[in-house]
Amino acid sequence: MTSPRIEVDLGKIRHNAETVVGRLRKRGIRVTGVTKAVCGHPAVAQAMLDGGCTGLAEARLSNVRRLRDANKNCSITLIRTPMLSQVDEVVQLCDASYNTQIVVIAGLAAAAIRKNMVHDIILVVEMGDLREGILPENVGAIAQHVVNMPGVALKGIAANFACLNGIAPTAAKMAAFSSLSTEIEGLCGPYIEAVSGGNSANLPWAFGKQPVGRVNDLRLGEAILLGVDPITGKQIGGMHTDAFTLIAEVIETDAEPALPSIALVSPDFAKPRLVSNDAGARRLILAIGQQDTDIQGLTMPLGTALIGATSDHLVVGTHHSTFRVGAEMRFPMNYKALMRAMAAPDIQTELRDDRYPRRSPSRSKAKHLALI
Ligand SMILES: *Cc1c(COP(=O)(O)O)cnc(C)c1O
Repeated sequence: MTSPRIEVDLGKIRHNAETVVGRLRKRGIRVTGVTKAVCGHPAVAQAMLDGGCTGLAEARLSNVRRLRDANKNCSITLIRTPMLSQVDEVVQLCDASYNTQIVVIAGLAAAAIRKNMVHDIILVVEMGDLREGILPENVGAIAQHVVNMPGVALKGIAANFACLNGIAPTAAKMAAFSSLSTEIEGLCGPYIEAVSGGNSANLPWAFGKQPVGRVNDLRLGEAILLGVDPITGKQIGGMHTDAFTLIAEVIETDAEPALPSIALVSPDFAKPRLVSNDAGARRLILAIGQQDTDIQGLTMPLGTALIGATSDHLVVGTHHSTFRVGAEMRFPMNYKALMRAMAAPDIQTELRDDRYPRRSPSRSKAKHLALI
């Protein structure tokens, strides 16, 4: 088996999708599966669809192309504003796209007319994350513009939270967003079919007791893939947090006579971390580095501490005596580590599909770590 590699448990991803889809269905909200962290991996996308996601969403056209090449014929929405240079392909490959710029919408409309198609437009409204979006006071005018433009159809509106600034959606903000859809319909007719309230950071709001208003869609990546709430990093009840595992190989095991008791974890972050200097601790070097993943986003196995990493080497201190040259070490990953590792050319993915997993999700991270 090659290393480094990512073990992907498709059964766990399907279970996570089923779990959130089931809970959100009761609130009248459907789930769009976001595949950007896995670069549009077709098998992961299929696990999301099998778990009940009604469609897929992607940020990059290259990933959409990968999904289409693998015969994914479901609805795919481009959730990053299209590049003006790509409008023809966007119309060809995507059912709908998220937009904030009239000039881009006009480009999409022209491309759609050339192909004798109609492309669906979802207008992104800026609700406080300050990344992208049309200001709420301007969205009505732009919606009217879209409704009157041949080649495109207004399909809905979308909000996005906690991406750039970690600002979680409040009930008041969600209510304001929901009522925007009714305001827009007052101006230009009943066009707002999709009211997409946000991403995984919206789940605490969506699982709450307050009414969800007209919000009928959430776009979920991290919650389905990693089973965690992106703001707190905590496990979402009933979800697997270990669908992805990074595996790297030990290439050097020379015991150091004494480890420094404090080591700089990374020159980039210069965050000191305690490293045990017990006589039993050994220093291992693994064949993986910053070029492959976000090393800070790896969880070290119990009894093991991160000492540092360079572009191609990972140095850890460990109490385990079992690691020899050629042995493998397994690491859970956070979202940043996952998205970089999935895009790394030297990391293979190994798919597993345990249709009926015997173990239910572990209750806590600590318990999960004990299994390693
Ligand atoms: C990445 C992204 C999502 C999914 O975010 P998660 O936190 O992974 O659920 C949803 N919407 C937009 C616009 C995004 O860019």
